[in-house]
Amino acid sequence: MIFQATVISVLFCSVHSFTVQDLLGKTDKHSGNTIEDDEFSISTLLEKANVNVGKNINEPLVMFGDIAMPTGLQNADPCTSRGCLWPKASDGNVYIPYRISNQYSQRERGIIIQGLRSFAATTCIRFTPHNRQRDFVDIESRSGCFSFVGRRGGGQTVSLSRQGCVFQQIVQHELLHAMGFNHEQTRSDRDQHVRILLQNVISGTEPNFRRINTRNLGTPYDYNSVMHYGRFAFSRNRQPTIIPIPNNNVAIGRATQMSPIDILRVNRLYRCNSTSRPDLEPMQTNHVL
Ligand SMILES: [Zn+2]
Repeated sequence: MIFQATVISVLFCSVHSFTVQDLLGKTDKHSGNTIEDDEFSISTLLEKANVNVGKNINEPLVMFGDIAMPTGLQNADPCTSRGCLWPKASDGNVYIPYRISNQYSQRERGIIIQGLRSFAATTCIRFTPHNRQRDFVDIESRSGCFSFVGRRGGGQTVSLSRQGCVFQQIVQHELLHAMGFNHEQTRSDRDQHVRILLQNVISGTEPNFRRINTRNLGTPYDYNSVMHYGRFAFSRNRQPTIIPIPNNNVAIGRATQMSPIDILRVNRLYRCNSTSRPDLEPMQTNHVL
């Protein structure tokens, strides 16, 4: 019965591509904000992929679009100040053991590994093959794209369904959840940056728009975050559900990869001792793990 209460959602953190101009705060975009423009956004991909999430008794309770919930926990409060960070090694890196299910094809596995490697290019996060460590992320193709928030202890599922979740931005998105990050539009200060139009939201999915008392790590609100929902997330009527303020023409939720601010946040949360300037330099994806 618990699954009847499951918010079968669909995640929306779309993004097409971000540009340096976006990064520098150019906010006068007037195109690309229709629901059709969001057709290939990450949020739309997640929405499609997560249609059946929560219908299988063997799946965890999934709320907030794609966040798996431990039984009994009613929301995704930030846990990063209570011990759900992944531990830092003496060399300054944070090694997160992973296992990838053999469900995937070579091509799919390659995309997932590329997503894992992308963190090493700009942060101190190092995904490393699981080798008897107690805690690890267990990447499997279950029904939809979802993850727990933060380290849960033991093997924790990160679901990347072969039907619609094997894209780099979704790999990054779900693993950012596993590292302790919530959706951008649930930030504690989100009401200064977006307006939520609950009247346009699919009935029963309102919890996806709850504000959370997040740790924002001194970073600005980021419409280009790979963790940001799209403008039409959970829309019941093709009308927007999230509108940026004060300029409602700004594109939101269209990241195709982690934004510089996403990267900065990882570096701050995990106290990465980086000499690079993750807030200014472009993402690089060709580094080794
Ligand atoms: Zn998510």
